[in-house]
Amino acid sequence: MTGEENLNPFAVAMAQFDRAALYLDLDDGLRELLKTPKRQLIVSIPVKMDDGSLRVFEGYRVQHNVARGPGKGGIRYHPDVTLDEVKALAMWMTWKCATVNLPYGGAKGGVRVNPKELSRGELERLTRRYATEIAPLIGPDRDIPAPDVYTDAQTMAWIMDTISMFKGHTELGVVTGKPVELGGSHGRQEATARGCQFVIREACRTLGLSLSGATVVVQGFGNAGSNVARFLHEDGARIIALSDSKGGIYNPHGIDPEAALAHKARTGALQGLPDTEAITNEELLELPCDILVPAALENQITRRNADRVRARLIAEAANGPTTPDADDILFERGIMVVPDILANAGGVSVSYFEWVQDQYGFFWSEDEVRHHLERIMTSAFHEVRATAERYRVDLRRGAYILAIGRVAEATRVRGIFP
Ligand code: GLU
Repeated sequence: MTGEENLNPFAVAMAQFDRAALYLDLDDGLRELLKTPKRQLIVSIPVKMDDGSLRVFEGYRVQHNVARGPGKGGIRYHPDVTLDEVKALAMWMTWKCATVNLPYGGAKGGVRVNPKELSRGELERLTRRYATEIAPLIGPDRDIPAPDVYTDAQTMAWIMDTISMFKGHTELGVVTGKPVELGGSHGRQEATARGCQFVIREACRTLGLSLSGATVVVQGFGNAGSNVARFLHEDGARIIALSDSKGGIYNPHGIDPEAALAHKARTGALQGLPDTEAITNEELLELPCDILVPAALENQITRRNADRVRARLIAEAANGPTTPDADDILFERGIMVVPDILANAGGVSVSYFEWVQDQYGFFWSEDEVRHHLERIMTSAFHEVRATAERYRVDLRRGAYILAIGRVAEATRVRGIFP
């Protein structure tokens, strides 16, 4: 480990691939194919702003691999979005869908925009124009977007409506994560967190750690982070710290996630919640705790802070929060990391259920969704763990070995056209 750590998300994704592919008997050509994104689309999105001015935003849709089925993956609105980040996120979706054995490939989209600065009307126009620009790539049997950072069910409803206007009929299956009133699935909104809860329960059993009474730190208070905090609180865990993009809050005696949600809804931030101390996002990652849940963005646990992390278990609700160098440090220190492509796969799993329900026109109860999700997450956790034990590697490499093996096998039996 010499020189500066490369934090470019695509470089990180490549390194993760290489570190696991070593264990598989892949020839050079196949290895090259599996690393390369299949399609990359860059679009410019002109938006008429409320004040009459015109602004142009840049957007992306990348399909990394579709050997096992249509591309699948969310759309992110964030001021720091780059093509390399979207390529990494698309590649992670390929391995994620393969890890939990969904019949999908991997894709991702993003728009470089700060959605907090846009009015609702501006956001709707941006979304509809972005949907129009990526329309040649997406469709229920081609590539199916979903929510990601700073997009939600309303964003998906606008995309579904826009595509449907061009088609001349309602095309429910073109996106998932839609409102329940509009072809969405029960349990999709909280699915990422619910899936994370299921794997945390299994990981705790493996570690001999009781979730009831365990101390938990959650970084990020969006859809994933806030719901993970709520669900683990319901399981009897003590949530000692939370954070959002503005900073963190800490109380060693425990924080009620519902009170935190109410405070954030009222004031726009977590800090200032009574009976909590303000801390930074960096301090939060280094708090002594049993379970640390990074649920924000990439590159949070790196070579710089990995030796100061004091959790027993890390469950990655975010995509890409830990770098390969940090993985090595954590593995050496005996800290279990449940990797993103497993820990946050509950979201895309319920997306899959939603897509199935849309195609059938027959909708499931919340209990059915939860039952199937628990089955998928629990068995994927144990498959990944068994693979990691067989190869004597950490869980990330175990998941990658499993996932890359599945995609490689699909590619092999399909053959290369022509
Ligand atoms: N954005 C989520 C993820 O990173 C969900 C993707 C989906 O449901 O397609 O896994």
